[in-house]
Formats: sequence, C-alpha cells, structure tokens
Amino acid sequence: MQTDLLYHEGFQKHSMTPGHPERPERLQYTLDLLGNKGLLNQNGFEIVYPEQAGPEEIYPIHSLGYLSMLKERSELGGGYFTLDTMANEHTYTAAMLAAGASMVGVDRIIRKTSQNGFVLCRPPGHHAEFERAFGFCFINNIAVAAMRLIRKWNLSRVMIIDYDAHHGNGTQKAFYSTDKVLYVGLHQHGRTLFPGSGFSNEIGVGEGEGYTVNLPLAPGSGDPSYSMLFDEIIGPLAESYEPEFVLVSAGFDAHHQDPLTNLGITLAGLALLNQQIHDISKEFSQGRCLYFLEGGYELDILGNGIFNVLQELLGLEVTVYEDRGQEPRRCTEESLGLVKTTKKRLRGRLL
Ligand SMILES: [Zn+2]
Repeated sequence: MQTDLLYHEGFQKHSMTPGHPERPERLQYTLDLLGNKGLLNQNGFEIVYPEQAGPEEIYPIHSLGYLSMLKERSELGGGYFTLDTMANEHTYTAAMLAAGASMVGVDRIIRKTSQNGFVLCRPPGHHAEFERAFGFCFINNIAVAAMRLIRKWNLSRVMIIDYDAHHGNGTQKAFYSTDKVLYVGLHQHGRTLFPGSGFSNEIGVGEGEGYTVNLPLAPGSGDPSYSMLFDEIIGPLAESYEPEFVLVSAGFDAHHQDPLTNLGITLAGLALLNQQIHDISKEFSQGRCLYFLEGGYELDILGNGIFNVLQELLGLEVTVYEDRGQEPRRCTEESLGLVKTTKKRLRGRLL
C-alpha cells in the first residue's frame, strides 16, 4: 500500500510580511529534513503534484464572490486581509493548489491508488471561513476535502480530528449543522489564545448537535492530558461514530517549544496521538486517512513531527525523540474536569 505526500512548489511562492511566522521556509525545511532522513526514497512513498482547484469545486465551503475577490487581490499584487493575514501575487494560485491537493488526496485514497497521505501545503486552512480569510488561512483545505467525500463520494460519516493548538473555527462552522462530519478539536483554551472560540459548550446545532466536540486545554497541558482525552473521549467517539474516512488538521504548534502558543505536548506525545488516530482509521475506515498541514512555527519540531507522521502512515518504526516535558498538576486536574463535563454534555449522543 502507498502513502502520498501532496506537494507543489507553488506553495512556497505565497508569503506574507518579512519575519511572519507562517513562512515558506516551513516547507523547504521539512522537505530537506525528509530528504536527509531518506524518507523521500522510501518504498511505498510517492510525491504527488496537484493541479489548481476550480472555484466551483470549493463552493459552498467558500462563496464564489469571495474566491473571485481573492483572485483579483492577488493579481493586483496582494494586500492585507487582517492584521496578520496578507496575500502576495501568488497567494490565490497557492491556495487553489492546496485545495486541489486536498481533492486529489481524497480521490486517490477512495480509488485505492493510495492508502493514506499528507497534504504538505501552504497557506494553511482551518481558520478560513465562508467569506473570510483569517489566521494565516485563505481556503479551508480540510473542509474542501470533507465536502468532496460527502458530495462526490457519497460518504456520510467523516471524522475530522484537529489537533492544531488553535481552534479550527472555519472547519467547525462549515459543518456545524450536519451529522455527516464529526469535528473534534483539541486546542489551547479560547480565553487564552487566538481565535478565542472552541469552548466546550459549542457542540453543533440541529442535525449537527453532538457532532462538534471541542476539547479546550489549559495552557501548559501536555502528554498526560492528550492521552487522557484520547482514551476517554476521542477513542469512544470514534467507536460510536464508526467513521468512513479520517481527516486530520495537523498543527505542530501544540508542542512546548512553539513560539506562538503555550501548550506542552512533546514529539513523543504527538507520535502517540498519530498512532491512535491511525488506529482509528484502520479499525473503522479501511485505513483511509488524510493529514493536512496547519500550523507549527518551530522548524525543527515541524520537520521532525511531519517525519514521525509519515513514518506512522507508512507503517515504519517511528523515531522516538527525547524531548519530555512535565505537565503541571493543575493542568491534569483541569483536563479531568473537561472529561467529566464533556461526557455529561454528550451523554445520549455519541458518548
Ligand atoms: Zn495553530
């Protein structure tokens, strides 16, 4: 079986202001690291170069008006969308290539050309909303992929696990009122970090009630909390939902060395989380699993974290890094409380 790495050099042409943390070097550093470790020549591993998506393939995740505005702004050289999210002349092309990578990624897995994959893209996507570029994101790649699985491939149970340190507000909004997507977000608490959403009482509406699950973590939370939340909430949710496909918003900014956030997971903790996610896909989804790069701003952590994900997806032995962190006791206690309130809130639904 095969693991795809979806990549295009156009992803590196999009750049924001000098010194911006969401920078092209994130991808080049990662590719160099994967090359140095011999992973790019591994059996069963293939780099797939996507084409640009068309606007109609992205609707209704984004409005056609928003997409044509984004195109126009890029063609005019770019500009600011928010204080920290700006386009250059290549942004529209890069974003459409990233959306194209998401589409070809799911298509190849559904057609059994590959077993699983990783979309190594920029710009990231999980903050982008229907008509809003936000939080370094322009087009919501993982939402485009989930919508394609539902509309083109007639799936009705897609599980999205978003472990970026920031809440995936755009992804949550896109599927807030449907039970065809189970969105599970593990992130730093919205009272302490951008975008200030993803509280545990945000659980979806209408048919979607109970199919959005937010697990906001106290600053400082690390491996013990992640492991507890997986065992107590995420694993049981998957058992109950039986996803046909697993999509992952992979952000490496929950690591304790990340400069933008205050969480405390280690590379070993991330490796365990990826193994547990991979196990869910093997148990319920015929191994169908597609990862998307979101954040992660410490280059060495980002590169090694992605290396570990690809080792996991390829079924290789995962390199263990010694970067152990200590979780303060108050964080473990807060996470324990979160497990209790979440179980109570979801009782009679998926838990
Ligand atoms: Zn993030």
